[in-house]
Amino acid sequence: MRVKDILATAHPTCSLEFFPPKTESLGVELDSALQELLPLKPAYVSVTYGAGGSTQDRTYDLVVRIRRETGLPVISHLTCVGSRRDQIRALLERYAANDVNDILALRGDPPRGQAGDTPPAGDFNRASDLVAFIRKEFPGMGIGVAGFPEGHPETPNRLKEIDYLKEKVDAGADYIVTQLFFDNRDFYDFCDRCHLAGIRVPIVAGILPITNRAGMVRMAELAAGSRIPAALLRSVDRCVDDTAVERVGIHWAAEQMRDLLHHRVAGIHLYTLNSARGVKRIFASLGITDASQLR
Ligand SMILES: Cc1cc2nc3c(=O)[nH]c(=O)nc-3n(C[C@H](O)[C@H](O)[C@H](O)COP(=O)(O)OP(=O)(O)OC[C@H]3O[C@@H](n4cnc5c(N)ncnc54)[C@H](O)[C@@H]3O)c2cc1C
Repeated sequence: MRVKDILATAHPTCSLEFFPPKTESLGVELDSALQELLPLKPAYVSVTYGAGGSTQDRTYDLVVRIRRETGLPVISHLTCVGSRRDQIRALLERYAANDVNDILALRGDPPRGQAGDTPPAGDFNRASDLVAFIRKEFPGMGIGVAGFPEGHPETPNRLKEIDYLKEKVDAGADYIVTQLFFDNRDFYDFCDRCHLAGIRVPIVAGILPITNRAGMVRMAELAAGSRIPAALLRSVDRCVDDTAVERVGIHWAAEQMRDLLHHRVAGIHLYTLNSARGVKRIFASLGITDASQLR
């Protein structure tokens, strides 16, 4: 079953995101997170991808391994910046041969040192080009795209933001997964603006529990454009140590989820950062032992 079919029939979904580990010890951490989290029965999982192909093989290996060992639908993130059509085609053929049928089609960001006005040479300028390519050459692939409730930092204004997002949907995307956000009002407003623009595909909300101060700072850099509300910052400021920060972050994320479920969101995508702890505590706070109980 592809993710778009799951979103159509078994919502609200709860899905989990992992990244491919770069070292052996991080690989051990990931394996232990997977062992603890898969019994929570996520509807599907996704695996991130280094822009410009920096973790391409690791992403491929992890996606195929999870798919083979668990039978779960697995979304492979795929960035197109700096890539050629033949490279992307070859990768997608390998995925299809391994029964991986879901791609999150992204532009990605130019590798460090190439930021600015000189994008690396490649056949794709934007995610919408990648969506159109996949839709044409791999019609059986399910395709998700990224959405930014608070706006993408490079987009000149919020009206254009939704126009560009609609281009991705019109090119063939089946659903949208959002950048993480901490204020649900931003997400609801984003959904309303999508609806006004005629976007009718499911919108999956990206949620990240803050678990320590350093992680919060790193997250602010990686998810540029995501605002940390003053109420959350004030609570974090009061914390005496990272144990307290974790409690605050998990409580905040659980409350966000509770409210999103109340508003009948299509799905919630949890950024796990390859750690089981935050997700398990959120589930405990929601009073559930596995994700199927959200329906
Ligand atoms: C859920 C999610 C998962 C992600 N996973 C990864 C990952 O695994 N690996 C990774 O490297 N990055 C990942 N990213 C980050 C993403 O690659 C960056 O945010 C990137 O800068 C934008 O990607 P995009 O797919 O939204 O690009 P696009 O949709 O192509 O947008 C990129 C920029 O181009 C502008 N634009 C789009 N269309 C037009 C047009 N017609 N005319 C003019 N301007 C236009 C947009 O407004 C935006 O500013 C993820 C982001 C999200 C939200």
